[in-house]
Amino acid sequence: MTIQTEQPIPMFSDKVSSLRAYFDQGATRDLAWRDRQLAALAAMLEDHEERIAEALMVDLAKPEQEVYLGELALLFSEIKLARKHLKKWARKRRVSTPLAGQPGQSWVMPEPLGVVLIIGAWNYPIQLILGPLIPAIAAGNCAVLKPSEVAPKTASLVSSLVGAYLDPEAFAVVEGGVEETTALLSERFDHVFYTGGSAVGKIVMSAAAKHLTPVTLELGGKSPCIVDDSADLASAARRIIWGKCVNAGQTCIAPDYVLVTPKNKEALIAAMGKELDRMYGRDRLASTDYCKIINERHFDRLLQYLDDGETIIGGQHDRERLKIEPTVIGNVRMDSPLMTEEIFGPILPVIEVADLDAALAQVRAGDKPLAAYLFTTNKHNEQKFLSTISAGNMCINDVFMFMLVHDLPFGGVGNSGMGQYHGQAGFDRLSHLKSVMRRGRFPEIWIRFAPYNAFKIKLLKLFG
Ligand code: NAD
Repeated sequence: MTIQTEQPIPMFSDKVSSLRAYFDQGATRDLAWRDRQLAALAAMLEDHEERIAEALMVDLAKPEQEVYLGELALLFSEIKLARKHLKKWARKRRVSTPLAGQPGQSWVMPEPLGVVLIIGAWNYPIQLILGPLIPAIAAGNCAVLKPSEVAPKTASLVSSLVGAYLDPEAFAVVEGGVEETTALLSERFDHVFYTGGSAVGKIVMSAAAKHLTPVTLELGGKSPCIVDDSADLASAARRIIWGKCVNAGQTCIAPDYVLVTPKNKEALIAAMGKELDRMYGRDRLASTDYCKIINERHFDRLLQYLDDGETIIGGQHDRERLKIEPTVIGNVRMDSPLMTEEIFGPILPVIEVADLDAALAQVRAGDKPLAAYLFTTNKHNEQKFLSTISAGNMCINDVFMFMLVHDLPFGGVGNSGMGQYHGQAGFDRLSHLKSVMRRGRFPEIWIRFAPYNAFKIKLLKLFG
């Protein structure tokens, strides 16, 4: 990843100014306009499902079922939800006014922020660029989309489809890489919504700070997966393997590594081997249900991790096809890159820990993860896990599935990000929740006005 330090070229000033001028005219505040844009977005995805699948096949060899599950299904359901609740979300939210504020009425009034910059990552290149666009539209904003150049076929498809389906005066797509993103970040936006790695997250945040622009950072990190003594091993193995193999492990919430107690280690690994056979057959590199690695750079980065432990299952790879077999690794060196960097590929270290407490201590010693998983049938262990680990999202006895629940806001904490979206959380994130109070004129309560005296203080203390 190149980090650019030179002065950015202001190549997008006109674009951002024209979006802002359109926003200022007020068209995007109209709920009917927002609903039409959301409907158009759904139609765009429906009409071009095949082209989207083709682009994702070129960029990632993504199987059709993963295109639907990992990219489109979430978008369709988020659009449906936003259209259903738009009026409710956008309406003023009354709050109570204390006695000291009487006579008066108070409410929170969501208002659009203005022009939002959405920067997407390559691993789910449709979902991660259009997912934040849904709340941006619902909340009444204009937006510039910057899809990831690392998935170029999908980026150019997004650009042509958005241009054809959405209001061109409100939305623009900028294709390109570091230079274009740097130039965009030099502009003043009203919010920057970035999905990607933490190193660039810092660049984004410091560029936004120059304009005091708020940011949402959807980052990554090492998401741990703990399997305790009481876990249902067959189910745990199946779900962990699926979570690691979807998108060939290139998923921000994929289980990065497994911590397992001695009692279950061998059995868990054996069960994982069986699940791999069942899901991908013996020749896993040939499976059409299994993605490729995005590019040579990431392929080579991942292969180096194989030196940081002992391969127990898998390990085969093919640079021509950019495929790496799902690989389980043991005897891992804890200070090696495999355990200090986010893996973001189909390599799964399985590490023995004495007990749950040791596992929790190990997780706490690292950065706060984006997701944390525990497989257990013990309620006490579940409680301990939930109350001692801080993570963006947590799931007991499964991986990923919290993504299906609209009312569970999605986002990281600490190093894994800031700000949440999905469902109403996204709408609120890309709105300004403006506080409003309307005061009655009569009766006038005189005690707050000068001249002050001891009696007024007494009354204030009583009713304040
Ligand atoms: P990436 O290389 O696609 O970069 C993300 C975006 O940042 C791209 O649009 C790119 O153009 C831009 N960018 C890259 N370098 C830049 C620079 N120097 N200055 C300005 N912009 C720059 O994606 P990535 O970083 O490889 O993404 C992988 C990471 O993203 C992983 O850590 C993963 O966990 C995380 N991720 C998080 C989520 C989430 O929802 N929290 C989702 C997917 C991926």
